[in-house]
Amino acid sequence: MIVVKVGGSAGIDYDAVCADLARRWKAGEKLILVHGGSGETNRVAEALGHPPRFVTSPSGYTSRFTDRQTLEIFEMVYCGKMNKGIVERLQRLGVNAVGLSGLDGRIFEGRHKDSVRIVEDGKTKILRGDHTGTVEKVNTGLIDLLLAGGYLPVLTPPASSYEGVAINVDGDRAAAALAVALKADALLLLSNVPGLLRAYPDESSLIREIPAADVQSYLEFAQDRMKKKVLGAAEAVQGGVRRVIFGDARAGEPVSAALGGAGTVVS
Ligand code: ADP
Repeated sequence: MIVVKVGGSAGIDYDAVCADLARRWKAGEKLILVHGGSGETNRVAEALGHPPRFVTSPSGYTSRFTDRQTLEIFEMVYCGKMNKGIVERLQRLGVNAVGLSGLDGRIFEGRHKDSVRIVEDGKTKILRGDHTGTVEKVNTGLIDLLLAGGYLPVLTPPASSYEGVAINVDGDRAAAALAVALKADALLLLSNVPGLLRAYPDESSLIREIPAADVQSYLEFAQDRMKKKVLGAAEAVQGGVRRVIFGDARAGEPVSAALGGAGTVVS
Protein backbone atom coordinates (compact mmCIF):
# COMPACT_ATOMS: atom_id res chain seq x y z
CA MET A 1 0.00 0.00 0.00
CA ILE A 2 1.26 3.45 -0.94
CA VAL A 3 -0.23 6.66 0.40
CA VAL A 4 0.26 9.61 -1.94
CA LYS A 5 -0.37 13.14 -0.65
CA VAL A 6 -0.43 15.88 -3.25
CA GLY A 7 -0.44 19.46 -2.02
CA GLY A 8 -2.39 22.50 -3.04
CA SER A 9 0.35 24.92 -4.06
CA ALA A 10 0.74 26.74 -7.37
CA GLY A 11 2.42 24.74 -10.11
CA ILE A 12 1.27 21.26 -9.14
CA ASP A 13 0.32 19.25 -12.24
CA TYR A 14 -2.75 17.24 -11.18
CA ASP A 15 -3.07 15.75 -14.67
CA ALA A 16 0.42 14.32 -14.39
CA VAL A 17 -0.22 12.98 -10.87
CA CYS A 18 -3.52 11.37 -11.90
CA ALA A 19 -2.12 9.84 -15.10
CA ASP A 20 0.77 8.29 -13.17
CA LEU A 21 -1.56 7.05 -10.41
CA ALA A 22 -3.96 5.57 -12.96
CA ARG A 23 -1.18 3.62 -14.70
CA ARG A 24 0.06 2.18 -11.43
CA TRP A 25 -3.44 1.42 -10.14
CA LYS A 26 -4.31 -0.44 -13.34
CA ALA A 27 -1.09 -2.45 -12.96
CA GLY A 28 -2.47 -3.67 -9.62
CA GLU A 29 -0.80 -1.37 -7.06
CA LYS A 30 -2.87 -0.49 -3.99
CA LEU A 31 -2.94 3.29 -3.66
CA ILE A 32 -4.72 6.02 -1.73
CA LEU A 33 -4.58 9.68 -2.65
CA VAL A 34 -4.82 12.50 -0.10
CA HIS A 35 -4.89 16.04 -1.43
CA GLY A 36 -4.75 19.66 -0.32
CA GLY A 37 -6.14 22.85 -1.80
CA SER A 38 -4.52 25.78 -0.03
CA GLY A 39 -3.72 27.87 -3.12
CA GLU A 40 -7.23 27.65 -4.57
CA THR A 41 -8.82 28.22 -1.14
CA ASN A 42 -6.88 31.45 -0.80
CA ARG A 43 -8.07 32.62 -4.22
CA VAL A 44 -11.73 31.75 -3.55
CA ALA A 45 -11.63 33.28 -0.06
CA GLU A 46 -10.29 36.55 -1.52
CA ALA A 47 -12.97 36.50 -4.23
CA LEU A 48 -15.69 35.98 -1.62
CA GLY A 49 -14.41 38.92 0.43
CA HIS A 50 -13.17 36.78 3.32
CA PRO A 51 -9.39 36.71 2.79
CA PRO A 52 -7.30 34.08 4.56
CA ARG A 53 -5.68 34.85 7.86
CA PHE A 54 -2.47 33.01 8.56
CA VAL A 55 -1.20 32.94 12.10
CA THR A 56 2.13 31.89 13.57
CA SER A 57 2.38 29.92 16.80
CA PRO A 58 5.02 30.71 19.46
CA SER A 59 7.01 27.69 18.20
CA GLY A 60 7.04 29.06 14.66
CA TYR A 61 4.36 27.00 12.89
CA THR A 62 2.13 28.83 10.42
CA SER A 63 -1.51 27.82 10.05
CA ARG A 64 -4.77 29.12 8.63
CA PHE A 65 -7.06 30.65 11.25
CA THR A 66 -10.33 28.85 10.50
CA ASP A 67 -13.45 30.64 11.70
CA ARG A 68 -16.80 29.14 10.66
CA GLN A 69 -16.98 31.10 7.39
CA THR A 70 -13.43 30.13 6.49
CA LEU A 71 -14.29 26.49 7.24
CA GLU A 72 -17.21 26.68 4.82
CA ILE A 73 -15.04 28.18 2.07
CA PHE A 74 -12.38 25.56 2.86
CA GLU A 75 -14.99 22.78 2.41
CA MET A 76 -16.26 24.28 -0.86
CA VAL A 77 -12.79 24.18 -2.32
CA TYR A 78 -11.23 21.06 -0.76
CA CYS A 79 -14.31 18.76 -0.78
CA GLY A 80 -15.88 20.37 -3.83
CA LYS A 81 -13.71 21.81 -6.55
CA MET A 82 -10.41 20.09 -5.72
CA ASN A 83 -11.78 16.69 -4.70
CA LYS A 84 -14.25 16.38 -7.55
CA GLY A 85 -11.71 17.71 -10.06
CA ILE A 86 -9.30 14.92 -9.09
CA VAL A 87 -12.04 12.26 -9.05
CA GLU A 88 -13.17 13.39 -12.50
CA ARG A 89 -9.61 13.18 -13.87
CA LEU A 90 -9.24 9.63 -12.51
CA GLN A 91 -12.65 8.58 -13.83
CA ARG A 92 -11.69 9.82 -17.30
CA LEU A 93 -8.56 7.70 -17.04
CA GLY A 94 -10.70 4.66 -16.30
CA VAL A 95 -10.11 4.49 -12.54
CA ASN A 96 -13.16 4.14 -10.30
CA ALA A 97 -12.18 6.78 -7.74
CA VAL A 98 -14.33 7.80 -4.76
CA GLY A 99 -13.76 11.21 -3.17
CA LEU A 100 -14.37 11.64 0.55
CA SER A 101 -13.44 14.08 3.29
CA GLY A 102 -12.24 13.03 6.72
CA LEU A 103 -15.75 13.76 8.01
CA ASP A 104 -17.23 11.00 5.86
CA GLY A 105 -17.28 7.83 7.89
CA ARG A 106 -15.10 9.74 10.40
CA ILE A 107 -12.07 8.61 8.44
CA PHE A 108 -9.95 11.30 10.13
CA GLU A 109 -10.79 12.05 13.76
CA GLY A 110 -9.19 14.34 16.31
CA ARG A 111 -9.59 16.89 19.05
CA HIS A 112 -11.14 20.26 18.21
CA LYS A 113 -8.88 23.14 19.22
CA ASP A 114 -11.13 26.15 19.64
CA SER A 115 -8.41 28.63 20.54
CA VAL A 116 -4.94 29.17 19.21
CA ARG A 117 -1.92 30.90 20.71
CA ILE A 118 -0.33 33.22 18.18
CA VAL A 119 2.50 35.68 17.97
CA GLU A 120 1.59 38.99 16.37
CA ASP A 121 3.73 42.13 16.43
CA GLY A 122 6.04 40.38 18.88
CA LYS A 123 3.20 39.72 21.35
CA THR A 124 1.59 36.40 22.27
CA LYS A 125 -2.22 36.45 21.94
CA ILE A 126 -5.05 33.95 22.11
CA LEU A 127 -7.57 33.76 19.25
CA ARG A 128 -10.88 31.94 19.84
CA GLY A 129 -13.41 30.47 17.41
CA ASP A 130 -10.85 28.37 15.56
CA HIS A 131 -12.05 25.20 13.81
CA THR A 132 -8.79 23.34 13.75
CA GLY A 133 -7.28 20.22 15.20
CA THR A 134 -4.89 17.37 14.58
CA VAL A 135 -5.74 13.89 13.35
CA GLU A 136 -5.31 11.50 16.29
CA LYS A 137 -7.31 8.56 15.02
CA VAL A 138 -7.84 7.08 11.56
CA ASN A 139 -10.90 4.91 11.10
CA THR A 140 -10.01 2.61 8.25
CA GLY A 141 -13.31 0.69 8.00
CA LEU A 142 -14.71 2.65 5.08
CA ILE A 143 -11.32 2.70 3.30
CA ASP A 144 -11.01 -1.09 3.62
CA LEU A 145 -14.50 -1.47 2.11
CA LEU A 146 -13.61 0.80 -0.81
CA LEU A 147 -10.31 -0.91 -1.55
CA ALA A 148 -11.93 -4.35 -1.32
CA GLY A 149 -14.56 -3.16 -3.81
CA GLY A 150 -11.91 -1.94 -6.26
CA TYR A 151 -12.38 1.80 -5.63
CA LEU A 152 -9.47 4.22 -5.33
CA PRO A 153 -10.09 6.49 -2.29
CA VAL A 154 -9.36 10.21 -2.78
CA LEU A 155 -9.31 11.83 0.66
CA THR A 156 -9.16 15.41 1.85
CA PRO A 157 -9.46 17.46 5.06
CA PRO A 158 -11.49 18.50 7.03
CA ALA A 159 -11.54 15.86 9.76
CA SER A 160 -14.24 15.20 12.32
CA SER A 161 -13.81 16.17 15.98
CA TYR A 162 -14.80 13.59 18.57
CA GLU A 163 -18.05 15.59 18.87
CA GLY A 164 -18.66 15.43 15.11
CA VAL A 165 -17.64 19.04 14.37
CA ALA A 166 -15.66 19.68 11.15
CA ILE A 167 -12.06 20.68 11.88
CA ASN A 168 -9.35 21.92 9.55
CA VAL A 169 -6.36 19.61 9.86
CA ASP A 170 -2.99 19.55 8.17
CA GLY A 171 -3.12 17.28 5.11
CA ASP A 172 0.48 16.11 5.37
CA ARG A 173 0.07 14.96 8.96
CA ALA A 174 -3.34 13.41 8.13
CA ALA A 175 -1.68 11.46 5.31
CA ALA A 176 1.08 10.39 7.72
CA ALA A 177 -1.51 9.12 10.23
CA LEU A 178 -3.27 7.28 7.41
CA ALA A 179 -0.03 5.68 6.22
CA VAL A 180 0.66 4.47 9.77
CA ALA A 181 -2.89 3.14 10.24
CA LEU A 182 -2.74 1.26 6.95
CA LYS A 183 0.83 0.02 7.55
CA ALA A 184 1.74 1.54 4.19
CA ASP A 185 5.05 0.66 2.55
CA ALA A 186 5.64 4.27 1.56
CA LEU A 187 4.23 7.76 2.04
CA LEU A 188 4.81 10.30 -0.74
CA LEU A 189 4.45 13.99 0.09
CA LEU A 190 4.32 15.69 -3.32
CA SER A 191 4.44 19.47 -3.71
CA ASN A 192 5.82 22.21 -5.96
CA VAL A 193 9.45 21.82 -4.90
CA PRO A 194 11.98 19.04 -5.74
CA GLY A 195 12.02 17.95 -2.08
CA LEU A 196 13.42 19.37 1.14
CA LEU A 197 15.91 22.08 0.23
CA ARG A 198 18.85 22.87 2.47
CA ALA A 199 18.82 26.49 1.29
CA TYR A 200 15.23 27.18 0.16
CA PRO A 201 14.46 28.37 -2.57
CA ASP A 202 17.71 27.18 -4.19
CA GLU A 203 16.59 23.98 -5.93
CA SER A 204 20.16 22.78 -6.35
CA SER A 205 20.37 22.43 -2.56
CA LEU A 206 18.10 19.37 -2.54
CA ILE A 207 18.67 17.05 0.41
CA ARG A 208 18.71 13.54 -1.10
CA GLU A 209 18.51 11.33 1.96
CA ILE A 210 17.53 11.66 5.59
CA PRO A 211 18.08 8.80 8.04
CA ALA A 212 14.73 8.06 9.73
CA ALA A 213 16.19 8.52 13.22
CA ASP A 214 17.42 12.06 12.38
CA VAL A 215 14.38 13.51 10.64
CA GLN A 216 13.45 15.89 13.49
CA SER A 217 16.85 17.58 13.20
CA TYR A 218 16.03 18.56 9.59
CA LEU A 219 13.19 20.79 10.81
CA GLU A 220 15.72 23.62 10.89
CA PHE A 221 15.86 23.67 7.05
CA ALA A 222 12.08 23.86 6.63
CA GLN A 223 10.30 27.16 6.71
CA ASP A 224 6.58 27.81 7.06
CA ARG A 225 4.42 24.97 5.92
CA MET A 226 7.32 22.74 4.94
CA LYS A 227 7.74 22.18 8.68
CA LYS A 228 4.48 20.25 8.74
CA LYS A 229 5.78 17.92 6.05
CA VAL A 230 8.94 17.19 8.04
CA LEU A 231 6.81 16.64 11.14
CA GLY A 232 4.49 14.36 9.18
CA ALA A 233 7.48 12.40 7.88
CA ALA A 234 8.80 11.98 11.44
CA GLU A 235 5.40 10.76 12.63
CA ALA A 236 5.13 8.31 9.74
CA VAL A 237 8.56 6.71 10.19
CA GLN A 238 8.11 6.58 13.97
CA GLY A 239 4.80 4.82 13.30
CA GLY A 240 6.48 2.14 11.20
CA VAL A 241 6.25 3.46 7.61
CA ARG A 242 9.53 2.40 6.02
CA ARG A 243 9.93 5.19 3.48
CA VAL A 244 8.68 8.78 3.26
CA ILE A 245 9.56 10.74 0.15
CA PHE A 246 9.21 14.48 -0.41
CA GLY A 247 8.71 14.70 -4.14
CA ASP A 248 7.99 17.05 -7.03
CA ALA A 249 4.46 17.14 -8.48
CA ARG A 250 5.08 19.76 -11.16
CA ALA A 251 5.64 17.50 -14.18
CA GLY A 252 6.52 14.10 -15.55
CA GLU A 253 5.52 11.02 -13.59
CA PRO A 254 5.53 12.41 -10.06
CA VAL A 255 4.58 9.21 -8.21
CA SER A 256 6.95 6.92 -10.13
CA ALA A 257 9.80 9.43 -9.93
CA ALA A 258 9.41 9.75 -6.15
CA LEU A 259 9.18 5.96 -5.68
CA GLY A 260 12.28 5.69 -7.85
CA GLY A 261 14.19 7.84 -5.37
CA ALA A 262 13.97 11.34 -6.85
CA GLY A 263 13.36 13.96 -4.18
CA THR A 264 14.20 13.61 -0.50
CA VAL A 265 13.99 10.07 0.82
CA VAL A 266 13.49 9.54 4.55
CA SER A 267 14.23 5.91 5.47
P1 ADP B 1 1.50 21.87 -0.44
O1 ADP B 1 0.25 22.64 -0.14
O2 ADP B 1 1.79 21.76 -1.90
O3 ADP B 1 1.57 20.55 0.26
P2 ADP B 1 3.03 23.65 1.23
O4 ADP B 1 2.82 25.01 0.70
O5 ADP B 1 2.29 23.21 2.45
O6 ADP B 1 2.78 22.62 0.06
O7 ADP B 1 4.57 23.39 1.49
C1 ADP B 1 5.50 23.44 0.45
C2 ADP B 1 6.17 24.79 0.41
O8 ADP B 1 7.10 24.89 1.48
C3 ADP B 1 7.02 25.01 -0.82
O9 ADP B 1 6.26 25.51 -1.89
C4 ADP B 1 8.03 26.06 -0.34
O10 ADP B 1 7.57 27.35 -0.66
C5 ADP B 1 8.03 25.93 1.16
N1 ADP B 1 9.32 25.62 1.78
C6 ADP B 1 9.79 26.20 2.90
N2 ADP B 1 10.99 25.72 3.26
C7 ADP B 1 11.33 24.79 2.33
C8 ADP B 1 12.47 23.94 2.15
N3 ADP B 1 13.51 23.95 3.01
N4 ADP B 1 12.47 23.10 1.10
C9 ADP B 1 11.42 23.07 0.23
N5 ADP B 1 10.33 23.87 0.35
C10 ADP B 1 10.26 24.73 1.38
